[in-house]
Amino acid sequence: MIEPNALMIDVDRMTETFLTLARIDSPSFEEREIAEHLLAELRALGGDATMDDAGAAVGGNAGNIFARFAGTGRGPAVLLSAHMDTVSPGRGVRPVRDGQRIRSDGSTILGADDKSGLAIILEVLRAFRERKLPHPPIEVVFTVCEEPGLMGAKALHLARLSAQDGLVLDSGPASSLFVRGPAADRLEVTVRGRAAHAGVCPERGVSAIQVAADAIARMALGRIDHETTANIGLIEGGTAVNIVPDRVTVRGEARSHDEEKLSAQSDRMVRCFHDAAAARAIKTGGQTLQANIEAKVTRDYNRMRLGEQAPVVQWVLEAARQMKATVRCESTGGGCDANVFNSHGLRIANLGTGMREIHTTGEYLLLDEFSQTGRVVFSMLRQAASR
Ligand SMILES: [Zn+2]
Repeated sequence: MIEPNALMIDVDRMTETFLTLARIDSPSFEEREIAEHLLAELRALGGDATMDDAGAAVGGNAGNIFARFAGTGRGPAVLLSAHMDTVSPGRGVRPVRDGQRIRSDGSTILGADDKSGLAIILEVLRAFRERKLPHPPIEVVFTVCEEPGLMGAKALHLARLSAQDGLVLDSGPASSLFVRGPAADRLEVTVRGRAAHAGVCPERGVSAIQVAADAIARMALGRIDHETTANIGLIEGGTAVNIVPDRVTVRGEARSHDEEKLSAQSDRMVRCFHDAAAARAIKTGGQTLQANIEAKVTRDYNRMRLGEQAPVVQWVLEAARQMKATVRCESTGGGCDANVFNSHGLRIANLGTGMREIHTTGEYLLLDEFSQTGRVVFSMLRQAASR
């Protein structure tokens, strides 16, 4: 048992760190400024910190930050991770303190997603350093381009990590420890029809838009079952109102906690395009013409499924129990960098930081939850070092 009064971090300082980070613009692909700031902070805290070459891989101006802090106690290395990029509108954020929460001024997002995670990690490192308390080796990864599709994490050289267990801090309620999440597929389907003048000879055309519309109408979308979802999110094509359109690109996704169901759902979605193309074939000049379907299905990330016996789950639950804080293992429908880490065999859970209404201008951070997660992470590392 670790005595409770040693479980302290400086919550005011952590909040100030968050406010500082929130004021630094860091839209996806433009994380350079915040990355430089964080590199300096991590080095000042005694970390061996570097930026990797993911910037070139993702087409952004900064890479992922990787930092290692030598252990001062027992225990295996622990990974702590959060992402540096934000969604739009996220430039010129002016954070406002409003009682027990921090919000934006209403014209932008706040960026608590995921600067609350960055601030917690910095404060925990600072607290260990100041108090000279034993901790296991700590590896910190701050990623770029999480929002557009976990791009930074996917470009990370995981061989650099020695930690097998750890936490991503990138979700809402501080009481939620996400240990299960779906795998996801991305679909991109290009329908190629045949162009024709819409007024002079429409019967010679095969409308790619009509085929795509028919295909989508045939699909089961939305919530397919308790663990599977599907969505068509983007559609673009056509050239002019008086031309039967010969090209449409449709993009969508499917997710499931069950990988077989995921493959089946993605296959069904693609099949709808082939069926629609066949149903809308035309006969012209003695020939049958039908739209050509080019479908690409790519696995975006694998599912996350940690057992309750996974070390990080044990550490977090024990830390919470000692603090009399409520933290429960939960399932999410979303994906985060933890999915990528776990795809490579690591055991990484995702703990909430108190952020709410993310990806909207109404986004806010609940300070009591933010503080709880800071204390849980600090205490979790003490757990890990005492095993
Ligand atoms: Zn996030």
